[in-house]
Amino acid sequence: MASRVEALYRLELIDAEVDEKRDALAQIEMQLDENEELLPARRKQDEKEEALRKSRSRLRSLELDLEEISSKIASTEQMLYGGAVTNPKELAGLEQELEYLKRRQSDVEDRTLATMAEVEEMEGGFREGKEFLERTERVWEATQGNLRREAEELHSRLMALEGERRERLLTVSKEDLSAYEDLRRQKGGQAVALLEKGICQGCRVALPTSFVQKVRRGEELVYCSSCQRLLYSLA
Ligand SMILES: [Zn+2]
Repeated sequence: MASRVEALYRLELIDAEVDEKRDALAQIEMQLDENEELLPARRKQDEKEEALRKSRSRLRSLELDLEEISSKIASTEQMLYGGAVTNPKELAGLEQELEYLKRRQSDVEDRTLATMAEVEEMEGGFREGKEFLERTERVWEATQGNLRREAEELHSRLMALEGERRERLLTVSKEDLSAYEDLRRQKGGQAVALLEKGICQGCRVALPTSFVQKVRRGEELVYCSSCQRLLYSLA
């Protein structure tokens, strides 16, 4: 039959592991579904896609402008050189119009080329971003899988500890349990301290020999005179 303090010591081994596993589980649950790396990468890629879409549509509209200008140039030239118009004033006006259209054409062509280069560069950036995002997603999913597995292991260990704790409680009196629980709360989660070579391992203070003997006998609950924890000797 275990002594009263030994029963509490064994109970605390279980409780300490329960606390540790619960902390670990809480840490994991915070990381689960929390995609700190993924969200900014997705946002950035969305921005790139939007910018690319705008540039492409600018390019399309420039190309349409060019087509329109070319066809105007063709019809103007047709009128100018076709022989249908003979009035010198009208011909001078058509020449002026043609000059203006050609200037516009060259201007729009320059802008089209610049926009083409811009679109090409953006497509490169978009492809790179897509690869980075896919890589990040793969890493994130693998991490999530590991975390989920760890969480499951912790859950099942906690279930087992719950069973162990219920059994252990059968060996502890109500009074001892309530003293133990009060002490645990007050003493930062450690109610029972080992007494080793006359030194309380809870506060590292050396205790008188009379303490050591009483603790070894294990007939009554003995509290450390310095930190007030329950003392237990493995020897
Ligand atoms: Zn102590």
